[in-house]
Amino acid sequence: MAEETPVQPRQAMPADPIARVARSRHEFGEHGGVNLSIETSSTFTVLEAGKMPEMFGGRAGPKGGCFLYGRHFNPTVMVLSRHLAALEATPSAYCTASGMAAISGSLLQACDTGDQIVAGQALYGGTWALLHDYLPRKAGITTAFVDLSDLEAVARAFTPRTRVLYCETVSNPTLRVADLPALAKIAHERGAMLIVDNTFAPVAITPALHGADVVIHSLTKFINGASDIVAGCVCADGAFIDQLYDLHVGSLMLLGPAMDPRAAYEVATRMPNLGLRIREHAQRALACAERLEALGAQVIYPGLAAHPDHALYARLANPGYGAGGLLSVDLGTPERAYRFMEHLQNVEDFGYMAVSLGFSDTLMSASASSTSSELDEASLRAAGISPGLVRLSVGYTGTLEDRLAQLERGYRAAGG
Ligand SMILES: *Cc1c(COP(=O)(O)O)cnc(C)c1O
Repeated sequence: MAEETPVQPRQAMPADPIARVARSRHEFGEHGGVNLSIETSSTFTVLEAGKMPEMFGGRAGPKGGCFLYGRHFNPTVMVLSRHLAALEATPSAYCTASGMAAISGSLLQACDTGDQIVAGQALYGGTWALLHDYLPRKAGITTAFVDLSDLEAVARAFTPRTRVLYCETVSNPTLRVADLPALAKIAHERGAMLIVDNTFAPVAITPALHGADVVIHSLTKFINGASDIVAGCVCADGAFIDQLYDLHVGSLMLLGPAMDPRAAYEVATRMPNLGLRIREHAQRALACAERLEALGAQVIYPGLAAHPDHALYARLANPGYGAGGLLSVDLGTPERAYRFMEHLQNVEDFGYMAVSLGFSDTLMSASASSTSSELDEASLRAAGISPGLVRLSVGYTGTLEDRLAQLERGYRAAGG
């Protein structure tokens, strides 16, 4: 009788994402330093000539400490990638030169010419353009855009060629929340993967624990948090990450958006305070949203009871990290939106009129004419992005009391 192999008990994985990241930080620098070392070399030596064909044949690799070439795998980038895999509770991860590289690389890996993607209609502008314009023209990969809150419409959009259901955890800039467990079920029942852009909700929501197969970040935003580096990552199982770096058909290996190890070091030094930052961003954003709501403003924030996805957000969120650092406010017209932002920047020093998000200071943009301007008129309407909508990425500088007073004066200056 064959003896049964006892199932190895999995090492208990803390439910808290920041606890997982802390446990993944067991790396020392080359000389025992408390910070990791930066491996800047673009090429690596072997001691025996026979090692080289083993590496090219995939029989020896970075997991065994055999590095080949900087565009393939780099030890410093791998350390940061391990932290991100821990954050997102995925078996593996790897970093890229930008968030868009992570998105385009993952989609090109999952889809071949003639395949289809089903995606939410409220997406980051660059992603929308990639799906709407670039992929059909350059790769013959088409996308059906749907309202993700209409689960029947999502299911109806699938065809036998659908390989990917794509969404953002919290959509840009309308802050609608994706029902990840329901979307994962729809995708998996139809043999497709669920790929989730979690840029707006790091720490707060862990999509892989709700069924996502691939989780993407623009590290440029909250995770790096200093608005000084452009970077991205793909968190997934080891098989998908290995495919991305396949020497013959790996999208990241062959399109080449490699992260610089110096950037990996910088981002890794900011991981230990990520939880503190996310908590403070969210507390400040909630206070700002409540103040604007009290003033009668049309404010969108998932932490407010009036938000259509308030209960869904609470169901998906990891406890203790709040409802995110982004809020949107609809001032009605572009003129009022501009007056609001100009007063807050030029009179109050409340924040900056700038795209991007996740910075220490508040960043403000009118979405329809900036970060969502890739969308045409009808798509903007369908996505619920009105011309007077201002998105704020709420920072944590200054005192909260002073910031709330500035925000109130800005709202009144705009005619609110
Ligand atoms: C910024 C952003 C991206 C693109 O990331 P880059 O690092 O600028 O390439 C993708 N998705 C979302 C939600 C973003 O905010």
